[in-house]
Amino acid sequence: MVADIPQALAYDDVLLLPGPSSVLPRDVDVAVELAQGVNLRVPLLSAAMDKVTEGEMAVAVARQGGIGVIHKNCTVEEQASMVERVKRSESGFISGPVTLGPDDPVSRSHELMRRYRISGFPVVGTDGRLLGVVTNRDLRDDADPAKPVSTYMTSEGLVTAAVGTDLETARKLMQTHRVEKLPIVDDDGRLVGMFTFKDIEKIRAYPNSAKDLKGRLLSAAAIGVGDGMLDRAAALVDAGVDLLAIDSAHGHSTGILEFAAKVKASHPETALMVGNVATADAVRACVDHGADVVKVGVGPGSICTTRIVTGVGVPQLTAVMEAAEAAADLDVSTVADGGIRFSGDMVKALAAGATAIMVGNLLAGTDESPGELVLAGGRRYKEYRGMGSLDAMRAGSADRYFQDSGSKPEKMVPEGVSGLLPYRGPVADVTGQLIGGLRSGMGYVGAQNLVELAEKARFVRQTAAGSRESHVHDLDVVHEAPNYQPGER
Ligand code: 5GP
Repeated sequence: MVADIPQALAYDDVLLLPGPSSVLPRDVDVAVELAQGVNLRVPLLSAAMDKVTEGEMAVAVARQGGIGVIHKNCTVEEQASMVERVKRSESGFISGPVTLGPDDPVSRSHELMRRYRISGFPVVGTDGRLLGVVTNRDLRDDADPAKPVSTYMTSEGLVTAAVGTDLETARKLMQTHRVEKLPIVDDDGRLVGMFTFKDIEKIRAYPNSAKDLKGRLLSAAAIGVGDGMLDRAAALVDAGVDLLAIDSAHGHSTGILEFAAKVKASHPETALMVGNVATADAVRACVDHGADVVKVGVGPGSICTTRIVTGVGVPQLTAVMEAAEAAADLDVSTVADGGIRFSGDMVKALAAGATAIMVGNLLAGTDESPGELVLAGGRRYKEYRGMGSLDAMRAGSADRYFQDSGSKPEKMVPEGVSGLLPYRGPVADVTGQLIGGLRSGMGYVGAQNLVELAEKARFVRQTAAGSRESHVHDLDVVHEAPNYQPGER
């Protein structure tokens, strides 16, 4: 019976009622615990897409307090090294610094500098004792790549500090002695860890970074269910990943769920996100198979054609509400993935009960997304594509859509498209606007934190006329606002 068909709503179908409030936007708390050990300062994930999240994006998003999910359209080695890059990019104290032996050639030093984007290393003997420090200042252009690093390292008058030295003391020591690296050594002269001046400066520059217990930026990475994916998971865990994300267009399928259980059994200490789903039953199935976080969204993505191609999906506000209710009963988190066009959508998703949101489109046009700027008609753009687009599936993401990457293009059934997005500047500008909008929304609702936002939220439905009234109307926009660009509806 047609009358039995339930109605499902999208973000634009609703608004939040303003409520009594004594809350100032600048004072609200937007931190969340996504899973044990994965504490975000802002409830934001960047999408596991090959035009959105590689190492640079993951570092940028974590510095703003969120977490980037590094895509898997690359070799295991490439993905693991991106995770390592995030984990090493800044940490108060580096407990396992990359080191060199005195006989390693200078060429090895150059290779590691490029790989980890670091500027120098402690040089240690086989007994673990610190012998010197070699930095790019020691290795000028005329350094012979075949010679051992001991030829060029600084070993006289090394500045070191004892175990237990705090951040501020370390900073002062480095400033006084004008050194960039401060090795920490035990009573026997063995290297225990290291501070770098650059890291300490970054800690001051990005006070809101999302970090692990050791002070390293948080990182997440995607895996699928194809061949070798358990090995990929193991390599990512070895690289220090904080959250593994099983990335599929249909998380409520036997193959995905059985694989999730295997991953959880192999890596019980690492948080596991499973998705995507759009119903309460699917949330329960994911949690039964080991998920700590369930990702919600079948078809809301800006580049996604799943609903059109397959006739399947759930408008995202309803999907998030149902999933979040089921997840709350089981004490797990949900991530609202896809379809976020404005900061207001983020407020609605979190008010509907999502623990955090995931965005692709909004971050794909930034400085830190992979790919070059494209100039067209005097404006700057960046490329963005669905992981179910033909281009991306040929590059390796076909398994997400249960397709064979070896198929001829005409045999693949894409569920996404490719396109261009206006250039949006640095990630920090986009996240600044998103979180600013969230804070203001919480002020209107009278919510001091995100738990209160979900508790106090009262939605009203709006008609198409209401939605038109909500958007800019009846003028030609002359100055674009950074958080609302014409044509973005
Ligand atoms: P956006 O922020 O662009 O609206 O949505 C990003 C999300 O769309 C991703 O995190 C992912 O879940 C989903 N997605 C990415 N590529 C595709 C695709 O080609 N097809 C579908 N159905 N979803 C996609």
